[in-house]
Parts: sequence; C-alpha cells; structure tokens
Amino acid sequence: MNIPKTSAPRIVVIGGGFAGISFIKKLRKTKIQIVLFDRHNYHTFQPLLYQVSTAGLEPDSIAYPLRKIFRKNDDFHFRMADVTAVDPTNNIIETSIGNLSYDYLVIATGTRTNFFGNDNIAKYSMPMKTVPQALNIRSLMLQNIEKADITTNAEERKRLLNFVIAGAGPTGVELAGALAEFRKGILENDYPELEEEEMNVHLIEGLDRVLPPMSEEASEKAQKFLEKLGVQIHLETFISDYDGKTVTTKDGRKFESATFIWAAGVTGAPVKGINGNALVEKANRYKVDKFNKIVGFKNIFALGDIALMETEDYPEGHPQVAQPAIQQGKHLGDNFNKMLQGKPMEPFNYLDKGTMATVGRNKAVVDIKKLRFGGAIAWFLWMFVHLWFLVGFRNRVVTFINWIYSYINYDRAARLIIRPYNKKHE
Ligand SMILES: Cc1cc2nc3c(=O)[nH]c(=O)nc-3n(C[C@H](O)[C@H](O)[C@H](O)COP(=O)(O)OP(=O)(O)OC[C@H]3O[C@@H](n4cnc5c(N)ncnc54)[C@H](O)[C@@H]3O)c2cc1C
Repeated sequence: MNIPKTSAPRIVVIGGGFAGISFIKKLRKTKIQIVLFDRHNYHTFQPLLYQVSTAGLEPDSIAYPLRKIFRKNDDFHFRMADVTAVDPTNNIIETSIGNLSYDYLVIATGTRTNFFGNDNIAKYSMPMKTVPQALNIRSLMLQNIEKADITTNAEERKRLLNFVIAGAGPTGVELAGALAEFRKGILENDYPELEEEEMNVHLIEGLDRVLPPMSEEASEKAQKFLEKLGVQIHLETFISDYDGKTVTTKDGRKFESATFIWAAGVTGAPVKGINGNALVEKANRYKVDKFNKIVGFKNIFALGDIALMETEDYPEGHPQVAQPAIQQGKHLGDNFNKMLQGKPMEPFNYLDKGTMATVGRNKAVVDIKKLRFGGAIAWFLWMFVHLWFLVGFRNRVVTFINWIYSYINYDRAARLIIRPYNKKHE
C-alpha cells in the first residue's frame, strides 16, 4: 500500500469521523508516523445528513476531503480502504488493499445502522448513515412525488405520498420536521396537481415520547412543534415488518408507504479480531479504560461511538453523539503528546455541553444542564453550533448562504434527481 518505511513509531487510525480527525489534529508536529484508513475519502458531518436527504443542502456541504484536513501534518498518510481485521498478536491490520503493521492502533469506526435482526427492514427500508444513503433518500422521495403527480390510481398515489419514519430520536424528529416543511413550501408551489393534505408524514416511536434522550420539556415542545407542522406521531408503537409497500406494526396497524426511512437505532461497528472481554456484545462497543485503551490490550485504543467507557455518571458509556467523540479524540491526542515526552497520560473526563434538536424554521429545543428552552432562540443557537462544528471554511459559508436563502424563500434548492434510486426489489 506504499506507506514509507519509518523508524518512528507508527500510529494507525481506523475511521476519519469526529473522533479520528480530532485525534490526528492534535498530532500535527510530532515525530511519529500516522496512517489513517477510511472507506470514504471524506469526513461526513452526520448531524446534517437529514438536510441532504430532504434537499435542503447539497452533499458537498457536509463532506470534506480527509487528505485536505491533514495537509499540514508531517508524515501523515491516508489510504481509502476497508479495514477488515486486526491481528493484535502480531500488531497487524488487514485491509482491502493489503496488510500494515502498527505500533499503536486507534479504532474510531463509529456505528452502523441497527435493524435489530429484521431482514425485511434491512432489505427494504432506507437507512441514513452515509452521504450516498442520504442521496438515495433524496432521490426516492422526489421520484415518488413525481410518480404521484402522474398516477391516476388513488391507492398508489396515497402510498407514494405517505412518508414513514421509524424512530423519534433527534434524527427522526429532524427528518420529520424537514419533510413537513417540504410539503408546506414546495408541494403547493411546484406540484399544482397535488394537494398539500395528500402528503402525510408519519413518525413512529417505540417509547412514550419523542426525543427520548432529551428532557421531558424538550420532548413536549418538540411534539407540539411537529404537530403544528402536521406530522402524525405514533408513540409506543413498534414496527414489525416492511415489505417494500406496507409498514406493519406489532399491534397490527398498517401504513402503506413507498418511502420508509429507518432512523430507529445504531450499533457499534467493531473490527474483527479484538474479542474476549474487550467487546461488549450488547452494544457492539469496545470496553475502554479512562485513557481510552481497550481493556486487555497495551497498544490499542478506541474512541467515540465505538468506545464504551464506564464512569459513575455514565455507567453504560457516554452517549453516542459528536461531543464525546471530539473530546475523546482531542484528549487522546494530548495524551500521546505527553507519552512522547515521557510524561504520564491523564484520565478522560467528559464535559457535557448539552443537547439540541431542530424541528424546522424557528423551531428547536435545547437542554443545557438545567437550562431548557425552545423556539427561535434555540433554533439560532442550533444553527450557530452546527456551522461552528462543520469542517471546512467553504462548507460553512455555503451552508450559511443556503440557510439564509431557504429562510427567505421557504425553498429547498437541491431538489434534484441526479442519480435515480432503484429499489432492488422493484
Ligand atoms: C443521521 C445522524 C444524525 C446525527 N445527529 C447528531 C446530532 O445532531 N448531534 C450529535 O452530537 N450527534 C449526532 N449524530 C451522532 C454523531 O454523528 C456520532 O456520534 C459521531 O459521528 C461519532 O463519531 P465517531 O468518530 O465515533 O464515528 P463516525 O463519525 O461515525 O466515523 C466513523 C468513520 O469510520 C469509518 N469506518 C468505519 N468502519 C470502517 C472500516 N472497517 N474501515 C474503514 N473505515 C471505517 C467510517 O467511514 C467513518 O468515516 C448523528 C448521527 C447520525 C447517523
């Protein structure tokens, strides 16, 4: 794979997500070699994937080339490849482009969609974890509206205009809000033959409130916002099947839908080879100590969503959101710098900066410790925070301009079917 031989220690990092890039950024000028592997050649800003799915942002605004992020790093090498296994006895990783030895290994592979073992849902629903998947949703949504516009079959039209989202966590809520706004701003203007009321957005959640990870106040507010936008919320409802046409719930209800988006959960994305006590099977996450070192290994670390660090405040590990990943990445980078200077590493402490979710224009909810608020101020804060953390100056400017444009025009400008989506079963 053409990595230069080195006498310096080599750190191999798997995953260029929030955790991986925060870690490597801390090691810009060090006498070590860093090799980053990711199956994509870009970093994905996952919190804004739903805006790509709903034609609010172009995909390029939320992705950033990994090579460019580390232009200024010395002895840094990126390889676009899938890491398939780790051989911890011989300190080697196996990848789709060959094997490589390491002195230290940092696993920051994040999560993958969890279909809870339901093969039909895995086969027919639309997950939203990557940019290509978000683009699939965008194409399918627009294709289905185009089809609805020309069909004379009332049942088929209903199915094409019924959008069902599984999971009312932040992703499901944000998606539902954006789809409802799409209906309000776009449908009546661009599709004169379709009535706004014909398009339905259903949000289905197994628990008894939307936004379960947030405070009850935030849940209540978000539910009100969603209902105001016309989203139909179904709580304490479990989905049992989807055959490509009908979503069936455990209590026997049926929702005809040609667009079923699965936002109901994730599970860790571990790499083969690290077993024993290190992998907590229930969550598919690596158990790490306070230095993010995987238990039972001397030179293998895990960061972010894939790491499970049990603490008094977080007995089941930190929440699988961006902040723990960023903070752990930075902290381990600092610890590596300390180690290279012969100083001891320091334990990680998570600083909870709060949680937020947006439902749409002027509608967001924020929990910061005991401070809870919603509405326009929360929405502006949400926008500011997302712009701040978006990687790349160009992406921030483009996203900001897009948002101002959409705010003034009630538009979602990226309504393009560039690469039509073909459902495999059709
Ligand atoms: C739709 C969606 C919305 C979200 N919204 C929010 C939000 O609003 N706020 C928030 O705080 N968090 C949000 N999150 C969660 C947040 O994105 C994650 O917590 C965060 O990305 C975790 O960072 P990470 O570095 O651990 O993993 P990731 O960012 O997932 O990065 C993992 C990287 O590893 C790569 N990779 C994985 N396995 C391999 C392999 N075997 N070989 C090569 N490469 C591999 C992947 O391609 C990816 O680039 C959202 C997540 C999703 C999916």
